[in-house]
Amino acid sequence: MNTFDWSKYGFVRVTSPYGWRNDPFNGKKVCHTGVDVVKSHQAPIHAFAAGEVVHASMGAAGSGFGGFGNVVAIKDSNGHLQCYAHLDSIGVTVGQIVKEGQELGKQGTTGRSTGSHLHFEVRSKASPSFGFGHHIDPGHYLSTYFSAHTQSENKKECKTVPIRLNNQAFCEGFLEGSITYAPLRAISEQLGARVTWNGKEAAVNGTRMLGGKLINGRTYIPVRAFEEAIQVKVVWNGQEVNIIQ
Ligand SMILES: [Zn+2]
Repeated sequence: MNTFDWSKYGFVRVTSPYGWRNDPFNGKKVCHTGVDVVKSHQAPIHAFAAGEVVHASMGAAGSGFGGFGNVVAIKDSNGHLQCYAHLDSIGVTVGQIVKEGQELGKQGTTGRSTGSHLHFEVRSKASPSFGFGHHIDPGHYLSTYFSAHTQSENKKECKTVPIRLNNQAFCEGFLEGSITYAPLRAISEQLGARVTWNGKEAAVNGTRMLGGKLINGRTYIPVRAFEEAIQVKVVWNGQEVNIIQ
């Protein structure tokens, strides 16, 4: 999963990782498009990588940075945008070339934010709308950025995936990285499987279901886990999952 060590850059906590979570404002299942990391309020925020500053002001609604508060966006050597959001203040200007480690501003809670933190987001495109919607896993991206790995390894988008049972539309799952997650209980019950919970982990027909995620009070597990537990065939056609019993 996410192997990037944020503490090396002075962050004491990751308060919300990249990927699916409950929206802190409305409780709905949403993709958190960046990672939330915390030092302390007004602590200096430094560039993880060098590049050109392409945005350095309050993110206007509809610009690709609405709700981001004060945001600095840096176009890196891959043409990717590295975005530093909710800053208290900004210390760089558009057009400036920044070095790795250079101070960009101070940690803050401007924009749509529930407390002082850095929302760090990486987008695989820089336009239009500053590449809005093209977010990828920032920890994964940074951990490969300084190595010789190809950019294809940096793709880790998240999106919803329709799940069918025996060719019938049934529910929605989600894709994160290369793993499709599906709701544990709904699918198990529909397929007549027995779900047990020992207070720590779930099992289906006695098979432990590992690698789950809790979203909106529902447990989602990697859909492949059903193959072993319920003896079904999981078919992925690149767009949707079909679970065949
Ligand atoms: Zn965030």
